[in-house]
Amino acid sequence: MIRLFCFLAIVFSLQSCAQSVREFEKNSFMMGRTTDTLPHLEYGLGEDRLGGAKITFLDTSVIMKVVDSTKDVYKVQLSQNHFAYLPKKKFKADSAVKAQPYYLTSNWKVYGDDKYDYVMINLDERLPYRGIQEINPSRIVVDVFGATSNTNWITQLATTKEIKNAWYEQIEDDVFRIFIELNHDQHWGYSIYYEEKKLIVRVKQQPPVLTLDKLKVAVDAGHGGDNKGTGGATCRCLEKNYTLLFAEELKKALEQENASVFMTREKDTTLSMPERVMMLREQQPDLLISIHLNSSDYDTVKGASTYYRYIGFRPLTQFILKRMEELGLSEYGNVGSFNFGLNGPTDYPNCLVEVGFLSNREDEKRILDPQFHKQVAAKIVAGIKDWLKSMRR
Ligand SMILES: [Zn+2]
Repeated sequence: MIRLFCFLAIVFSLQSCAQSVREFEKNSFMMGRTTDTLPHLEYGLGEDRLGGAKITFLDTSVIMKVVDSTKDVYKVQLSQNHFAYLPKKKFKADSAVKAQPYYLTSNWKVYGDDKYDYVMINLDERLPYRGIQEINPSRIVVDVFGATSNTNWITQLATTKEIKNAWYEQIEDDVFRIFIELNHDQHWGYSIYYEEKKLIVRVKQQPPVLTLDKLKVAVDAGHGGDNKGTGGATCRCLEKNYTLLFAEELKKALEQENASVFMTREKDTTLSMPERVMMLREQQPDLLISIHLNSSDYDTVKGASTYYRYIGFRPLTQFILKRMEELGLSEYGNVGSFNFGLNGPTDYPNCLVEVGFLSNREDEKRILDPQFHKQVAAKIVAGIKDWLKSMRR
């Protein structure tokens, strides 16, 4: 009896397995929308310590066509030729959404207020998109998937300060590409979101006065609470405590320049990456500095490094690293396309600073020295000032 039951259980489990594979056979799909906070698309199923390579964060209620399924992610079809991967928990099936071969775009309006410029595009549906920063010339390029042009009218108002030109190209039958040319070389950030079915690209204007006393700087002390970060080469010390000490000194140094400062944490609190991102989204800082301490399996690896994800934010990270090297720290490098959570937002220039390696005895000794916290803070501030000065030329 028991044997028979086992046999039947195996047969049934094989059957249900076969069914889930068949769930997405050729031409079968499931429609729905993005849901939850910070849904994001990934290029492929690759993974590293910080997750797969992200294409973009998306707004919620963006329509999605699921065509395949693996463990935690759905494969989604964005257009005829473009596919991406979406975490399952960021998707909600919706039978009211009907698949269409394409949706039409309509009129645009380009305008500004005292802090931002906007490109507003009327669409038939909340379609998936991705944004790209370009430099030389500085442009924001936004692809809208599943969209075909019926745009014959782009109103451009004189209230814009950062947007020089806005236009589009239908690069594929169902991929609509928006070009936004900027007045300044430096990117100050952009956000893409929907108001009902209107797609909005909000572009941050370069601040009119480029001195710290007119800017709001966000400072993020890495880790905290349950998330302890790395440990020391010799000391029984934790990264989370030292990132906070560096962040506190940075806050003081910035306030001496009369900058307004926002700290993501001021105590030993546990904060997830999405919590930090949402907090910063609310604060709308002019720039963000996130502080961490590095670690390597090889105890000879040492030195300072700065990180960015988007090319338009690179200069800030270069100026800061250059100043930090004046402290005699060796150059571990300036790293691009980095998949760190707080390099992910496009809304403001951001820089991850890995001060040094706690796993290296030489760096560790300096990291434990309170004088060094002050010196690093002063060099980060000097780097930000160099960066601002480079734009005043
Ligand atoms: Zn860290």
